[in-house]
Amino acid sequence: MSSKLMHVGIDDTDSLNGRCTTHIAYKIVNHILQNRLGEFVDYPLLIRLNPNVPWKTRGNGAVCLRLKSDNYTRIVDYVTKYVEINSALDSGANPGVAILAGKSVPEMIQEFGRRAMYDILSLEKAKKIARKFVNIEYFLYGNGQGLIGALAAIGTQLWGDHTFEAISYRLVENCNGTRKIDPSNVICISNKTYPNTFNNYDFTHNRVLVAPHGPDPVFCGIRGENPEIVVSALDMIKPEEELDGYMVFRSNQGTNMHLLNELDFGEIKPHMSGFSVCRISKNPTIIHGGHVIFEVEDDCGESIAAAVYEPTGITNIASMLRIGDTVEIGFGVRDATSKHQIVLNIEYLSVIRLEQTFSLSNPVCEGCKRRMKSEGKNKGFQCESCGYRNRTGQKIRIAEERDLKVGLYIPSPRSHRHLTKPSHRYDLTKSLLANVPRAKLNGSWISSL
Ligand SMILES: [Zn+2]
Repeated sequence: MSSKLMHVGIDDTDSLNGRCTTHIAYKIVNHILQNRLGEFVDYPLLIRLNPNVPWKTRGNGAVCLRLKSDNYTRIVDYVTKYVEINSALDSGANPGVAILAGKSVPEMIQEFGRRAMYDILSLEKAKKIARKFVNIEYFLYGNGQGLIGALAAIGTQLWGDHTFEAISYRLVENCNGTRKIDPSNVICISNKTYPNTFNNYDFTHNRVLVAPHGPDPVFCGIRGENPEIVVSALDMIKPEEELDGYMVFRSNQGTNMHLLNELDFGEIKPHMSGFSVCRISKNPTIIHGGHVIFEVEDDCGESIAAAVYEPTGITNIASMLRIGDTVEIGFGVRDATSKHQIVLNIEYLSVIRLEQTFSLSNPVCEGCKRRMKSEGKNKGFQCESCGYRNRTGQKIRIAEERDLKVGLYIPSPRSHRHLTKPSHRYDLTKSLLANVPRAKLNGSWISSL
């Protein structure tokens, strides 16, 4: 029997009550390694899918494992049984597992992965595609919705920009307890390793960001630019409880991958994500809660409402936009309600060109050079000083100095989602192909008891 390359996609094993697809992946990888069933050719991938899909669980993260193995059937049996037994099937999880055998990922699966980043895909479409390939097997539990993410995870190989996350896991008996993490250790990690790790600590609101709060097996996760830095930062957490172990994932977190697709206003549908270059067509207003609403139009003159929410910290910027300004916006599309049409929820704002704006003021008296007083609409102006009247006088336009500057504005970390690219990463964007073909596994990518 010859060694086969296997691509194992898993999604939707978790629910709001805990459990977690990355933990299932961690356990499966451990089993494969301990029983020498295969050799991994890449880090396990943690793929965050379109975050604007309304029926996601906590993070909408799917996993793909890539390995060479002589034990195809044993692995398929183990993965499917493990997912079935350990998913939160009784509380809303609808897992899907997809397994592709073969050297390369078919273009159709890659395209499915690209779409899953910004669009809404149906289970029917996922099944239809999976059935086209004799080398794809799939398994559905619950309503099987997870097949979409499982297939998309296989298709998303992250040859472009990517980051890493080292996730450590608690022992089963500790999963309901609170995580004891010393904030000073997290601050220390942040200071020592930034910008090569990110989203560890929110210095504005004094909050630890590395640990979740729910009853799930994740103890904490450190995100960063390479596997070495995230593992060494994880070591510095020094947890007070004994942990089960950790694993390093390669991920699209922090890459804005969901916003890479340019959308025409004509094709925009609820829950899509993407970006558009457009013009402001209605000046911003500040609404209750401090949110800013305005309208944008595309080249065809079609216009859509756009919103910048208060927690993003860029409402002051948005409120300075004026009709005619050209912007590039990254957004998720909020569905229409009985009260309003669809709204573009802005995830980043890049001001490309500022329109010259004018203020209107009364003309100046030719004699005394003082600003004249209006006599009423279309009745001209009179100088209060010398009494000079100009019955046909018009208001004059004065070019305004804009306070807004051209440039990129992105939300503050507290409104970041998993996929949001932090500001410092705009300089760190990387391409895997430029470095090595597939990530080379570093020796300490996984550890367990
Ligand atoms: Zn005068």
